[in-house]
Amino acid sequence: MALAIFQFPCLSDNYGVLIHDEASGRTAAIDAPDAAAVSAALAEKGWTLTEILTTHHHPDHTDGNLALKQATGCTISGPSYEADTIPGIDRKLSEGDVYDFAGHPVHVIHTPGHTLGHIAYYLPQDGVAFVGDTMFALGCGRVFEGTLDQMWSSLQKLAALPDQTVVYCGHEYTESNFRFAMTIDGSNPALVARGEEIRKLRAAGKPTVPTTIAAEKATNPYLRADDPAVRAALNMPTAPASDVFGAIRTAKDNFK
Ligand SMILES: [Zn+2]
Repeated sequence: MALAIFQFPCLSDNYGVLIHDEASGRTAAIDAPDAAAVSAALAEKGWTLTEILTTHHHPDHTDGNLALKQATGCTISGPSYEADTIPGIDRKLSEGDVYDFAGHPVHVIHTPGHTLGHIAYYLPQDGVAFVGDTMFALGCGRVFEGTLDQMWSSLQKLAALPDQTVVYCGHEYTESNFRFAMTIDGSNPALVARGEEIRKLRAAGKPTVPTTIAAEKATNPYLRADDPAVRAALNMPTAPASDVFGAIRTAKDNFK
């Protein structure tokens, strides 16, 4: 049976997500930005938390871990490379591991760059990916710990997922990402059209997340580093795509 998925905003611009299997009653939180917000979401749905799947160690993704574990007895899984900094971790996950969520396989994809151990969770049977702070709608995570080349190959791994994959990410950064994307890919009609959708959603107080791999491949400048128009805008017609990506990411770091 299909999983139920519930996304809710928390902290200043984070998203929390719960996934729930009706038959078994299992409920997982993808990251735990804030224990009170996760608890409120659980109460709203009438679900009981059984597990937390952590994408990376940053406090706005793990601050709720210990309080939720204490309150519910849930297990906590997360990236093996960051086990020392994931509060309450029980199970360490690495590239290629498959976590079983009530009969739904959850594939672990190592996506270093934002942090060195960052992992994404892909549920092929459900056509859903939880990518934390690696990819955002029209964006990608700031490269804090890894290298630009690492982030580029991590994004390539996600871009290789099936087009129709529904992508949940850790933050609502889309409007600002759109403004930046227009500075280097403003002649892309798909991007312009998406900007109008984003404006309407935000004006109505609605999230722009989840997105899809297809939408990101068509409009996310970081995934379009090899596109001739993007290359031309950056005056990098022949550089390796990873270098074009690096130039885009660096320009965004300095974008106001
Ligand atoms: Zn982060």
